[in-house]
Amino acid sequence: METVVSGIRPTGNLHLGNYFGAVKNFLKMQENYLCYFFIADYHSLTTHPTPKDLHGNVKQILVEYLASGLDPEKSILYIQSDLPETTELYLLLNMNAYLGELERVTSFKDKVRTQPDNINAGLLTYPTLMAADVILHKAQKVPVGKDQEQNLEMIRTFARRFNRMYKEDFFPIPTAFNFGEQLIKVPGLDGSGKMGKSEGEGNAIFLNDDEKIIRKKVMRAVTDSGPVENHQEKPEAIQNLFTLMKIVSEKETIDEFELLYNTCKIRYGDLKNKLADDIIKFTSPIRDKIKELNSNEIYLRKVVENGAERARISAQKTMTEIREIIGFRKF
Ligand code: ADP
Repeated sequence: METVVSGIRPTGNLHLGNYFGAVKNFLKMQENYLCYFFIADYHSLTTHPTPKDLHGNVKQILVEYLASGLDPEKSILYIQSDLPETTELYLLLNMNAYLGELERVTSFKDKVRTQPDNINAGLLTYPTLMAADVILHKAQKVPVGKDQEQNLEMIRTFARRFNRMYKEDFFPIPTAFNFGEQLIKVPGLDGSGKMGKSEGEGNAIFLNDDEKIIRKKVMRAVTDSGPVENHQEKPEAIQNLFTLMKIVSEKETIDEFELLYNTCKIRYGDLKNKLADDIIKFTSPIRDKIKELNSNEIYLRKVVENGAERARISAQKTMTEIREIIGFRKF
C-alpha cells in the first residue's frame, strides 16, 4: 500500500470550503492508502501564537477533523511536535539546503515583500520542515493544492539531493496525489470568489456555526433583483448559491429552483431558506460531534498518544538508518 503524508495547519475553524475541498479528500484517502495526517504545530510557530492559543488551535482542528470523519483507526493521526524525529531530520536537511533556493519560494518572497520586518528563519526554512514531515515516513504521495506545488518540488529536490549525496536510493521521490476532477471550489456568500475565513464576516459557513448563525449568513448572501428573461445566464452571486445547493441539496431541489430561475419565477428568499435548511441538515451531525469531542479529553488524549506511537515506528526506523548513512556511528 502506498504511503501518503499530509499536514493540517491549525489555523482556525473549518468552513464548508475546507470540508469539501480538503477534508472530504482525506476521508477518501484513508480508505485506500496508508495515511499519515499530522497537525503542523511546529510550523505554526512561525507566526508566534501564545501558548494558550497554540494548544487551543491544535485541539480545535483535531476535534473538527475527527468530527468530520477522519478515522484514527484507519489513518495515523498525530501532532507534529509529538515526533521530535521531525526536528532532527529538519536540521539535517537544512545543512544541505541552499539559501538561494529557499529565498526563491513564492510564499517566502511574498512575505518578504508584505512584512519585511517580520521574517524569521523558520519562515525561510518552512520547506525543509515540510520535507522532513513527508520523507520521515518515506511517503510516495503528497496531496497538494495549486498553491503547494512549489513546496512539493522542494520536497522532491531535498529527497533527491540526499539520495545523490550519499549514493543511496534511500528516499522515494514523492509525487502529487492527484484528485483530478474531484477538486472542487466552494464559493462564498459575498457574491464573488471562494469561501475563505479571511474573506470577511459572513462569507464563510463554519462547521461549528449554530443553526441561527447559518440561517442569518445565508439569508444575507448577496443576490440581485432577479432574472428578467427566461434561461438568462446567472450572475456570479446567483451561480454561487446554486453551486452551494449542488453541494448540500438533493437533485430534485436543485432542479426545482433551476426551473423557477429559468422561468423568472424564482424568489431568492425561498431559495435561501431551503439552502439554509440543507446546510443545517448537513452540518448538524458534525456540530453535535464537535460538541461531544470537545468535552471528551480522555478520548482526545488516547487518539493523539496512539497516533504518535504509531507514527514513531516509521520515524525512528528512518532516523536510525539515516544516522548510519550520514556517518553518526556508534563507538
Ligand atoms: P482559508 O482559505 O479559509 O484560509 P486554508 O487556506 O487554510 O483555508 O485551506 C485549507 C484547505 O482547504 C486547502 O487544502 C484548501 O485548498 C481548502 N480550501 C479552502 N477554501 C476552499 C474553498 N472555498 N473551496 C475548496 N477548497 C478550499
